[in-house]
Amino acid sequence: MKIGFHGGVGEVTGSRHLLEAEGLKVLLDCGLFQGHRKEALAKNRTTPFDAAEVNAVLLSHAHVDHCGNLPLLVKRGFKGLIYCTEATLEIAAIMLRDSARLQESDAKFFNKIHARQGSAETIEPLYDEADVDACLARLVPRPYMTWVDLSDKVRFRFHNAGHVLGSAMIEVEVAPATGGRRRVFFTGDLGRRKSLLMDPPDVPKTVDYLLIESTYGDRNHDPVDRVESLIKTVVDRAVAEKGKILIPSFALERTQEIIFVLEKMIRRGQIPLIPVYVDSPMAINITEIFSRHLDGFSFSPEFKDYVAREGDPFDFKAIRYVRTSEESQTLNDKKGPMIILSASGMCEGGRILHHLRNNLDKDTTTILIVGYQAQGTLGRRLQDGAKKVKIFGLEHEVWARVETLYTFSAHADQSDLLWFMKSLDPRPRKIFLVHGDPDDRAALKQALRVEGITRVECPDYGDVFDLA
Ligand SMILES: [Zn+2]
Repeated sequence: MKIGFHGGVGEVTGSRHLLEAEGLKVLLDCGLFQGHRKEALAKNRTTPFDAAEVNAVLLSHAHVDHCGNLPLLVKRGFKGLIYCTEATLEIAAIMLRDSARLQESDAKFFNKIHARQGSAETIEPLYDEADVDACLARLVPRPYMTWVDLSDKVRFRFHNAGHVLGSAMIEVEVAPATGGRRRVFFTGDLGRRKSLLMDPPDVPKTVDYLLIESTYGDRNHDPVDRVESLIKTVVDRAVAEKGKILIPSFALERTQEIIFVLEKMIRRGQIPLIPVYVDSPMAINITEIFSRHLDGFSFSPEFKDYVAREGDPFDFKAIRYVRTSEESQTLNDKKGPMIILSASGMCEGGRILHHLRNNLDKDTTTILIVGYQAQGTLGRRLQDGAKKVKIFGLEHEVWARVETLYTFSAHADQSDLLWFMKSLDPRPRKIFLVHGDPDDRAALKQALRVEGITRVECPDYGDVFDLA
């Protein structure tokens, strides 16, 4: 048995690991590398194994850094099935179509700029919408906690990962010819022990080889119960000043978490009823999937109790879903107070840009940052206190207040990761730290050593390990 690490090691995108066992090649995730264009593009175009020889893909969840390279795998000859949970299948369809559109427009933009500069260099999108359709035809849903045979020697099942709707950890059980059983366990992205919507991750019984993410291997998040008091301060001020609150938000999970918190607070009378606009077609489509899966396996009992008492939290009287861009433009002329949730989450594109352009110069505006802002993005510049920013090539002065809520994260922090690994009894034969930057992985490895957990590896891109 062997495991090869072909992405998502020493970095947080491009999750892709190849397990070879008893004559089968099983790919765990096939994600898109993101970051600097040239480097990411080169990695995305490289398939370091023969796609046609892969027998099956097990997909942990629908974020593009975990599923975004599947259409290329299919284009390059993969003929097997891609297993995932029902909700992941529905969300992946939206994410992959969006990814194809982004790549097509990105390639067009790149080629236009290069042609203008007299360069003959052009790029092709990795895949188009037809490739996405071919890929989606291979996705098959399987329920949580149900064994699925891949052969008479290899089977797998999904566990709740508590990360986003539909997210799964993957347990692969192999019965080697030499006898006994070996269990390989891949966490995908691991959720938190306490979150607003999701149930905490399952802790498996016996694991021989663990592949665990380490995104926040070096730090702990603010506790989730601080969210409400911070939101109340921001909303009360917007009401007093008749201002607008702009929330750049990721379409999957973060938008739904914010809606749920606002709905609860309005219902309890903690904040007044003011309009909440969800201004992103992708976020609206994903929210509809949440509404269809309210009794889903991965939601927390508290969330399900709330739904049983109060009904669908994504359908309440303050909320307005804005589908068309014309409707989105009319928000510019409306007076506050109001809350606008819009994409993209790091202010790099999408409708949030026209809201920022129209409201940054007003001191009654609050920009509420609720997610990670990467270096070099407009969201990060605002978060860092820039007094002037450029949008669509024009400079805008920033008079708006910028506030950050550090409490939201769909990822386990260091204490959650340690809790998960300390709960495994007996200890795994080997732990592989994946999906984390080098410093975060090193910090987590050190923290594990302090806990007496050794036999921990930090694999590099391309490394292959024999699993006895
Ligand atoms: Zn994820």
